[in-house]
Amino acid sequence: MRMVKGTPASESQKGLKSSLVSQNYFLPCSCSADRDMEVILPDAANFRFSTSVVSVDLLTSEIVRLRLARPSGFQYHPGQYITLYNAEGTGRTYSLASTPVLDPFLELHIRLVPNGIVSSWVHKQLTVGDTVSISEAIGNCFYMADNPDQSLLLVGTGSGLAPLYGIVRDALHHAHQGIIKLYHGSGTMAGIYLQQELNQLAKNHNNVEYTACVSRISQATELDAGVVHGRATAIALQHNPRMSGWRAYICGEPKMVNDTSRALFLAGVSLKDVYSDPFIHSKP
Ligand SMILES: Cc1cc2nc3c(=O)[nH]c(=O)nc-3n(C[C@H](O)[C@H](O)[C@H](O)COP(=O)(O)OP(=O)(O)OC[C@H]3O[C@@H](n4cnc5c(N)ncnc54)[C@H](O)[C@@H]3O)c2cc1C
Repeated sequence: MRMVKGTPASESQKGLKSSLVSQNYFLPCSCSADRDMEVILPDAANFRFSTSVVSVDLLTSEIVRLRLARPSGFQYHPGQYITLYNAEGTGRTYSLASTPVLDPFLELHIRLVPNGIVSSWVHKQLTVGDTVSISEAIGNCFYMADNPDQSLLLVGTGSGLAPLYGIVRDALHHAHQGIIKLYHGSGTMAGIYLQQELNQLAKNHNNVEYTACVSRISQATELDAGVVHGRATAIALQHNPRMSGWRAYICGEPKMVNDTSRALFLAGVSLKDVYSDPFIHSKP
C-alpha cells in the first residue's frame, strides 16, 4: 500500500526497493497503526489531468515523439509512466522520457502497433493544440540518487528507450559519477532513434556509453554507422560479463525484460537492484 498522509514505520518498508520507499509504499502486514494514517492501494492512480499537444514528431517510420504541456501540479520522476486517453476514453500506458527540471513539457515515445487503437490515433490523428487527458505518473522504474558511484546498466528495446532516456538524463542531472551503459535494441533500424542525441550525451560525459543494437539484418550495409549487430541483452552481457553491485533498468518487450532480468541475476546483479517495466499490452 502507499501512505498518502503520514510516514510509514521503517520496519514496514524493510526489503522494498528504494524507489518504492521514497514514494511512501509500505507492507501493511508489518505495519502497526499506532497513529492516524491515510493509505491507498498501489494502483489507485486515478487523478486525471487535461493537457494539450505541444508537438508530434515522427522520429522513424514507427516511432512518434509526442510532447504534451506539463499540467500545473503534475509531479513525476523520469521513467515513470502515465495513461494517455483518446477521445473515447480508451487509455494506454506510456513512459515519460522527459525530466521535470530540464524540460517544460512531458515527452512520450510511441511505437505504432498495427491496428492499435491508441498508438494509431497518436500517429495518424493527434495534432498540435489538441486537448488530451492523462493520468498522474506512477511506477518505480526511475533513478535514485542514493548511490552516485554505482554502475548503471540500461537495456531497452524499441520505444523501451523512452524511460531509459529520461533516467540517463536524470542521473546526469544529479551528477551521477558511476559508469552508465545504455544498450538500445531493435529488430530493424526502424526501431533505432535518438542516436544523435545519445551519441552527443556520451561525448559530453565520459562516464556514459551508448550502444545501438539491431538483431535482424541480411547485410552489414543495412546498419547505420556505429550500430552493432545483435540483441541488446547479449551484447550488454558480452561487454559486461560480471555486474555484481550494479543497478539495472530494463524496459520494453515483456519477454526481453524477463530474460534480461534472469541473465543479469546470473551475472551478479542483485534482484533488488533490478528495475523494470515490461510493456505488457492490453487484452483485446
Ligand atoms: C508500464 C508500461 C509502459 C509502456 N510504455 C510505452 C511507451 O513508452 N511507448 C510505447 O510505444 N508503448 C508503451 N507501452 C505499451 C502501450 O501501453 C500499448 O500497449 C501500445 O501502445 C499498444 O496500444 P494500442 O492501443 O495502440 O494497441 P491495442 O489496441 O491495445 O492492440 C491492438 C492489437 O495489437 C496487439 N498488440 C498490442 N501491443 C503489441 C505489441 N507491442 N506487440 C505485438 N502486438 C501488440 C494487441 O494484443 C491487439 O491485438 C507501455 C506499456 C506498459 C504496461
